[in-house]
Amino acid sequence: MRIQFLGTGTSHGVPMIGCNCDVCLSSDPNNHRMRPSIVVSHGEHSVLVDTTPELRMQAIRFGLKRVDAVLVTHTHADHIMGLDDMRRFNDLADAEIPVYGEPNVLEDIKRIFNYVFRVTQAGGGKPRLTLHELPDKFNLYGIDITPLRVIHGKLPVIAYRFDVPGDSGKLLSGAYVTDVSEIPAETMARLRNLDLLILDAVRFEPHVTHFGLYQALDVIAELKPKRALLTHLSHHFDHSRTNALLPEHVRLAYDGQLVEFGNTGAADIIPEHAPRLI
Ligand SMILES: [Zn+2]
Ligand SMILES: [Zn+2]
Ligand SMILES: [Zn+2]
Repeated sequence: MRIQFLGTGTSHGVPMIGCNCDVCLSSDPNNHRMRPSIVVSHGEHSVLVDTTPELRMQAIRFGLKRVDAVLVTHTHADHIMGLDDMRRFNDLADAEIPVYGEPNVLEDIKRIFNYVFRVTQAGGGKPRLTLHELPDKFNLYGIDITPLRVIHGKLPVIAYRFDVPGDSGKLLSGAYVTDVSEIPAETMARLRNLDLLILDAVRFEPHVTHFGLYQALDVIAELKPKRALLTHLSHHFDHSRTNALLPEHVRLAYDGQLVEFGNTGAADIIPEHAPRLI
């Protein structure tokens, strides 16, 4: 199993429009953050978590050519507004693509992308998507997927746990927990024994709808994943200065970061940073 970060930024992205701070003006590519999304792959299959407004640029920049299914965390704009870009993955695979979400998420998608789900003129084509209510637990392409309840301000949203059996029989396990300000006890119990925990940390200080860095570090200390990568990052975090403050097994994620799960844990595959095509 591999996980690649397509974007690690908060809803504004970094740089943020009209901001002249050090991080927004930084030439370090790790300080350039598109809206948050990951792709989880196993064998030749890929499962995309959320479709950001930058999905097209993310796919081009990181060479994503195949998406077999989409999982949705919630329907804030930074997580769904690229759904129309799924057309290219339909064309490349010559197939419909399933989208999984909670009932209220599927309702929102049908309302926001109304033209997709009713008979209208096709124009440049419409994404061909089938909508599926999230089961409690399911398997896609050999990946066991467990949707988990977390709280984003007052909004209940979904985090995902991914498990695959490794060569030695040990489970290889990762979880994507973004847009969260509170993790209920029953979800905490299901986030144990992770090789990699990906967790929301929007800024240093607490925030009404997201974890601040210190809250995220408290959760990591309690769950004790082998490794943790922080995402949904704002311009308050300079990549290298912040990483220097963090415990060894905790880092800020960066766009394009590619992690492979093996019997010793979740290790970075040092990516050639793909050239910036856009
Ligand atoms: Zn968000
Ligand atoms: Zn800034
Ligand atoms: Zn959100």
